[in-house]
Amino acid sequence: MKRFYYIFIFIMILCLNSCTNSNIKHDDTYHWEVSENGEIINKEKHKLNEWTVIKESTCIVPGTKQRKCTGCSYKETKELELEEHEEVVTKKGIPATFYEEGIYDEIKCSKCNNIVQEQGVSPKLTSSYELVYELNEACDGYIVVGAYESSSTELLIGLEYEGLPIVEIASNAFRYHYWIKTIKIADNVKKIGSGAFEHCGSLERVELPKGLTVIEDKLFNSCESLKEVTLPEGITKIGESAFLYCKNLEKLEIPNTVKELGEFSFLNTRKLEKLTLPEGISVIPKACFDGSGIKQINIPSTVKKIEGGAFIGCSNLESIEIPANCEILENYAFNSCKNLKQVILHEGLQSIGQLCFSACTSLSEIVIPSSVTTIGPTAFKNIENLVINCKVESKPDGWDNEWADVNCIVNWNYKEE
Ligand SMILES: [Zn+2]
Ligand SMILES: [Zn+2]
Repeated sequence: MKRFYYIFIFIMILCLNSCTNSNIKHDDTYHWEVSENGEIINKEKHKLNEWTVIKESTCIVPGTKQRKCTGCSYKETKELELEEHEEVVTKKGIPATFYEEGIYDEIKCSKCNNIVQEQGVSPKLTSSYELVYELNEACDGYIVVGAYESSSTELLIGLEYEGLPIVEIASNAFRYHYWIKTIKIADNVKKIGSGAFEHCGSLERVELPKGLTVIEDKLFNSCESLKEVTLPEGITKIGESAFLYCKNLEKLEIPNTVKELGEFSFLNTRKLEKLTLPEGISVIPKACFDGSGIKQINIPSTVKKIEGGAFIGCSNLESIEIPANCEILENYAFNSCKNLKQVILHEGLQSIGQLCFSACTSLSEIVIPSSVTTIGPTAFKNIENLVINCKVESKPDGWDNEWADVNCIVNWNYKEE
């Protein structure tokens, strides 16, 4: 008997449910009921639950999602966005230059196998459209002085503007244009002014024009994303602070034509471990490699002087050979090179400045040539148990009384085997 009672209740509930449901009407926004005497009651907005994906999208067919009202039978269905194609280069093209047309890569989708980009002729490169020009003094060429507001990641400076060659980029022209990632400059440009690209924090790649002769001061100062630069053959000078704080610069090719480096030019280039300096350079200037990552570097035989703090704090530097032509090592030149284990000095060196090798804590032995007439105060300070082999018989007058730390072991009249 009890069992029948439960079945009866169950049937009643089912019946009630279907009865109330059948009375609920809805449109796209509301649901409501109609009472026995025809009144609209309980009208309210749909109570929609979360979207559920009915069918996933592919890169060619959109999927669908649906959500339902908890109070009526209303359902809302929407198309999902297409999946992105998985682009793969199937035929390699040729990049266009300022001088020649190129060919686009053929790109296919690896999922649907459709062609996303066909191969075809890509036009010659032209200048970015938003550049601002000024006629030069001789009225035979244009100077790029900057750009209108732009967010373009590629800066292109082409061959000509209004029939005349583009010959120059003005100082500070693109300073703080942190959105630029790539710079390509056509070969009519013969001069790029100081600081033209400084603080371009996103700049990764730059193609400099062939006719350029000087890397002006601060040209790439604080270009923190710059990893690799090839300087064109013909450059004679790298200006002051030219690569200062390029803290990700790893690879730099300096052509043999370079004769002059600027002060601070590689200061804090922490990732620059290897560099080849060309013959012809006569001075390693002040703080040139201060705090850089230099591990391996040659001092060209033409160098006569290494200026103050030139290699200060180069904690990767392990060995250095000062060529015979070099006469002067100025104050702090190799101070705090904590990994410097080998220093080779040659006859010809005349002067070692104040604090020159101080705090080079890995140095255990050094030979001072007999040609050295001057050593500044505390040139060898804060180095435990350093053995200093001096070729002279006794301390020359020009050596400071406190030229070496008291705990250094000094051998006079040293003869090499
Ligand atoms: Zn509803
Ligand atoms: Zn696809």
